[in-house]
Amino acid sequence: NRLQPYQPGNRAPIADGSMASNESPLGASPDVAAAICGALAQSHRYPDPLAQELRSELASLHHVAADQILIGNGSDELIFLLASAYLAQGGHAVCAAPPYQIDRISTYAVNARLTQVPLRDWAHDLETMAAVDADIAYVVNPHNPTGTVCTPAGIREFVARSPARLVVIDEAYIDFTDDPNAQTAIPLVAGGGVAVLRTFSKIHGLAGLRVGYLVAERDIIATLQKIRPPFSVSSVAQAAALAALRDPAHPLAVREHTLRIRAEMVDLLEQAGYPVVPSQANFLLVQTLAETEFVSAVLRHGISVRPGSSLGLPGTVRISVPTERGLELLRGALRPDRELLQP
Ligand code: PLP
Repeated sequence: NRLQPYQPGNRAPIADGSMASNESPLGASPDVAAAICGALAQSHRYPDPLAQELRSELASLHHVAADQILIGNGSDELIFLLASAYLAQGGHAVCAAPPYQIDRISTYAVNARLTQVPLRDWAHDLETMAAVDADIAYVVNPHNPTGTVCTPAGIREFVARSPARLVVIDEAYIDFTDDPNAQTAIPLVAGGGVAVLRTFSKIHGLAGLRVGYLVAERDIIATLQKIRPPFSVSSVAQAAALAALRDPAHPLAVREHTLRIRAEMVDLLEQAGYPVVPSQANFLLVQTLAETEFVSAVLRHGISVRPGSSLGLPGTVRISVPTERGLELLRGALRPDRELLQP
């Protein structure tokens, strides 16, 4: 009964209105399409089960060894693998409440226990989480669905104090941060007991191709290698991820766009009277007393947003940073002379 299916965001009626799933509004690097076409000719062959080329480029990028990286069919697959390896047979995980949905689903899928520690001021309460003895402690930095970050000192102290066998830090949105308090935890991997998750779904715009990766000490990666489906990352997806990595200008442009539109959205929403949680991600969590009405009112303008109650935060909506045109649609929907809802 506690195992509820994943609740996806609704698809927007028009592409520019797509603001429910934190996808990249600018798509992937143009080099990706060419790489995909090139890889299609080899589709009759199994993909490289170790994704060696991709791992080695990611290893140089993050200054770790290639055998400290595991590629997955999206980071979601890696979260399920972590649950199989560390939580099966009576395990226990701790996470924030509300958590990233997959942390909860993967824990319950292996019949493990989950302690959910309520957010404090919309952010992880690392102090309370560090008092919980668990097999895995999940920290999502920046968090989804709030966009808040943990300070580097907070993370370091948490890793030092947490009795968890493994601290998993999910950095799906780390590329969108501009607060010096948001830093990657990859340097902490060397101390052991820490695994950092990254994805190609967000800043690289490959959500539909499913590529994510885990950075951790060799023993952790070796454990997960033993139980993973060997061919879960297709050759097309591997080629696309390599092409994305080799065009560093594209993620820079996506980052610049995201930070600019995010700031404009904050102004727009606050001027319309909606309190906005300070976000370091490619989405904003907006407080509204009329969640359902908000969702249907913006939908009339072609915009799809995620109702907070589907994410464990009733009384909010989560809005992904859209295209420039999407921002104009939102501006139109929030204009006071339109039928919109009161904050
Ligand atoms: N982790 C977090 C916190 C996310 O919000 C998401 C996607 O929304 C993911 C992981 C999923 O990433 P992937 O597409 O690589 O499975």
